[in-house]
Formats: sequence, structure tokens, C-alpha cells
Amino acid sequence: MDFLFSNTLINWFSKHQRDLPWRKTNDPYSIWLSEVILQQTRVNQGLPYFQKFITTYPTVHDLARASEDEVLKMWQGLGYYSRGRRLLATAKAISEMHEFPKKYESLIELNGIGDYTASAISSFSNNEYRAVLDGNVFRVLSRYFGLAEPINSTSGKKKFQELALSMLPRKNTSTYNQAIMEFGALQCIPKNPDCSICPLQDSCYALSQKKINTLPVKNRKKAPTALFLYFAVININDHLLLRKRPKHGIWARLFEFPNLEVEVEMPEIDILENLKAHFNIESPVLRVSHEYHHALTHRKIKAKFFEFKANQDYKIPEHCTLVSQDEIHTYAVPRLLEKYLNEKKYN
Ligand code: SF4
Repeated sequence: MDFLFSNTLINWFSKHQRDLPWRKTNDPYSIWLSEVILQQTRVNQGLPYFQKFITTYPTVHDLARASEDEVLKMWQGLGYYSRGRRLLATAKAISEMHEFPKKYESLIELNGIGDYTASAISSFSNNEYRAVLDGNVFRVLSRYFGLAEPINSTSGKKKFQELALSMLPRKNTSTYNQAIMEFGALQCIPKNPDCSICPLQDSCYALSQKKINTLPVKNRKKAPTALFLYFAVININDHLLLRKRPKHGIWARLFEFPNLEVEVEMPEIDILENLKAHFNIESPVLRVSHEYHHALTHRKIKAKFFEFKANQDYKIPEHCTLVSQDEIHTYAVPRLLEKYLNEKKYN
């Protein structure tokens, strides 16, 4: 074990750590909640969500009693909605247990809790001897030790796991894990870290070998493919037509306007013809929105909203429901729809 490395990080952490609510507790529920919210999300963005969740659902039993629509509504804006749904499913499972598990071996048995989260909860709440590896830790280890294995390959993950474990001090495990994560988040940042103030600068491989911009190594992912969404915003007496997305695929079980989803851009005349035929629309289009752009991990979405006013005798298509304009903000919708609704001042 490299005492210089771990002691330097713990020392740095004692001076520079941020004041974050989940650091002041060893309650596994709060720690789990923060970890789920912070996956793929920056602390600044995730903090208000954490506070909203912990205030509304102070215990795992309160969260387990919530409906999926309530949780997704609270999750709105964080993206990766499957995390919100998994949060609720895991809360239901934990709520039936005697108490919130703190040990890695019990946590890893739960659906929705993987190696990273189980290690984090058991380390932070129980000081268990587990190395926690998130994106920040990969970056610090890769740069400092010059480990150039791809961090998203199976063999790379194994090597990093071994290295992380070999650096883990027997004492202060939890503090060390939090220190290296925070060090990656604040000091050894992805772009242009200020190495001149870094306490590890004298022994850092990436700095001495000028490899800061090439470490850590990541295998390239497939480029995202295009998806075109054409929404029909059908207004009947100040009520709008909504439907729930299917169980699987993007934005599963969120609400949306009826739409066409295609992989090739369509001319407006064809879009209108198809929307009218699919959704029983007889009236002319009143307005067409500008094009909205939205990026998902594997999809580049371009969307337009076609607004219609329908008559009282309009035949509501299957699986759709009418929602008053005043209440639409209470429905969990994808971020893309939220942007449109905000511009239309429906929220
Ligand atoms: S010297 Fe620079 S690259 Fe090396 S650990 Fe410090 S901040 Fe990261």
C-alpha cells in the first residue's frame, strides 16, 4: 500500500471537501438515495433533488409507499428515468426487510444495487473494507499510476479494481474512499486540472509524462442514431390529449403527446397527413413549433410540435386521456416536452 498516496488524499480532503448533507450521516438510506441521484448527474444539479426526495420521503418506507407517477414527477429533469423507476422498485423491496442493509453482501443481492452502490453504502455507512470506484476514482488512479487499460472494458475494470483495493488503507476506509472521489471531482478534473496546486504533483505519472489529456483511456461507444419525433398537440376546450409511453424503451411510462416516431426526417405535408390519420384529427394545423433538439446516450432527437384544435365530438384515440392545461404540470413528462410546455407557459 502507498501510504503517501492515501494520506495525501485524506489530508487534502480534510481541507477541501464540500459541505454535503449525505456526508454528515451514516444512514444507509440517505447515502443510497444520494448515490442513485448522483449517478450520471453533477452534485450541483443533484443536490436539490436529494433535498426534495429526503424531505418528501424521510424514510425508505415513505418512498416505498409513493406511486410511480409521483416518483417520476419528482425525478423530472434528472434524465435516465429508469433510475427513478429502479429507485422505487428497490425501496419497495428494502421496505419489506427488517432494516436497511448496510453490508455489501446483503446490498448486492438487491435488484437495482450494483457493485459500485453496494461498495459505497457499505463503506460510508458501515466503514466496510471496500474500494469504491466511480468515474472520478478511475481518472485519479489512471493518471497518477499511469494505468492505461480502458476503464469501460472488463479486463480494465478488473485491473482498476485490484489497484484501488491495493491502495485502500485499513483504517479510515470510508474517509479515504470519499477523499479520492472528491479529489477527482474537484482537483483532478477531466479537463485542464490545475496540477500546479496538486499535492500529488511530484509523483504523478500523467503530469511527468504529459499524458493528462490521454488518461484515462475509454473504448469508443457507438455514435448515437437519429430519431425524429412529431407530436400532435390536440386541444379540446383547453384540455390537451396525453398518453403514457410503453413499459420499455426511452422515457418508459412517462406522459407525452400522441406522436409519430421515425428514424428518417419527413416532409411536413407527410407528417400532417400521418398525424391526422393516426389520431382522428379533422381540423387544420394551427401552428408548428420550431425544431427542438435533445440528446440521449444513444439517440439524437429532433422534434416538432403540431398544434390542433379539435371539436367536442372528437373521437379520443385509444390509450389517450384528456388533461386540463392547468394540471398538465403535475404529470411526469420527458425533459423535451417540459421545454415545450414551459415555452407555451403551460407550467
Ligand atoms: S498532478 Fe495533475 S493529473 Fe496528477 S493527480 Fe494531480 S491534478 Fe491529477
